[in-house]
Amino acid sequence: MTQPLPPYTIGRVVGVEPLTPRMRRITCASDRWRGARSIAPDQQVKLFFARDGGTPEVPAAPEDGSGIGGWYARYLAVPEERRPWMRSYTVRALDPDAGRMVIDFVLHGDGSHDSGPASRWAARAAIGDVLGVLGPAVAGYRSPSGQAVRLLAGDETALPAIAATLEALPPDVRAVAVIEVADAAEQQELSSPAEVEVHWVHRPASLIDAVRSVRLPAGEVFAWVAGEASAVRAVRRHLVGERGLDKRAVAFTGYWRRDLTQDDAPTEQDVADATEQMEAAGTTG
Ligand SMILES: Cc1cc2nc3c(=O)[nH]c(=O)nc-3n(C[C@H](O)[C@H](O)[C@H](O)COP(=O)(O)OP(=O)(O)OC[C@H]3O[C@@H](n4cnc5c(N)ncnc54)[C@H](O)[C@@H]3O)c2cc1C
Repeated sequence: MTQPLPPYTIGRVVGVEPLTPRMRRITCASDRWRGARSIAPDQQVKLFFARDGGTPEVPAAPEDGSGIGGWYARYLAVPEERRPWMRSYTVRALDPDAGRMVIDFVLHGDGSHDSGPASRWAARAAIGDVLGVLGPAVAGYRSPSGQAVRLLAGDETALPAIAATLEALPPDVRAVAVIEVADAAEQQELSSPAEVEVHWVHRPASLIDAVRSVRLPAGEVFAWVAGEASAVRAVRRHLVGERGLDKRAVAFTGYWRRDLTQDDAPTEQDVADATEQMEAAGTTG
């Protein structure tokens, strides 16, 4: 079945706020978001950055019913020197009254060319700048049934989704969050109506070691894991292999890949992960 293309709009920067030394909160406005409803706590958008710093232009959706697939083929057909960079981000918050969307950007690298266009853009963004926004669409979240204990694990790129998920939890569930960041200065205040235990992991300590040693409350567990792709794989393997969680109870998404950009083609492992994830999602009902 072809999926229809989510709405595309140009967002204008109306707020810029440093959250931590390596995380910048950018608020964008567009009339398109007035009255918009959140569809999942980790809903994602595709952001577009023009190569010349101006207004990004993306192709219109084809009218032949080919949906996202047809649109993506058109996007790739734009000559590279004119094709805007496309990157995935999480909607940290959506204000449907003001038509505003909040996105928290990790500033990775040193701001040079190697940092990547999205991180570079975020580091320099100022009021009035523009970016293209496709979405929102659901990312990896699947709402578990009943009272399952939520385990949320990831690095700083997953922090916006973890923070939004914790805020949206019902008060009568328990959650454990394990979050890997550079150091103590990268920790953020997290709030939730639920009973939450947060474990901050400072590099060089790793997410997988922290998840291995965390004690989970008794009962059924539903896990959500995102961040650097090989770390996500290791955590999933541990949860399914050593902790014995049902595959369907582990939602996992590689948010970035070491030494590869989001322009690089998916590796075989990425494709295998995505297929497993879709199969698991399809069987949860
Ligand atoms: C569904 C989804 C939601 C996401 N939500 C967020 C979000 O809310 N906030 C956020 O900051 N990121 C988020 N990410 C991750 C973000 O899309 C990637 O980090 C992306 O690669 C950044 O693009 P770039 O142009 O800065 O770097 P790219 O051009 O893609 O990569 C350039 C280089 O930087 C490296 N790199 C990329 N990201 C990182 C990183 N975080 N730390 C260290 N090195 C890195 C790459 O390995 C590569 O070598 C999300 C990803 C997905 C798939």
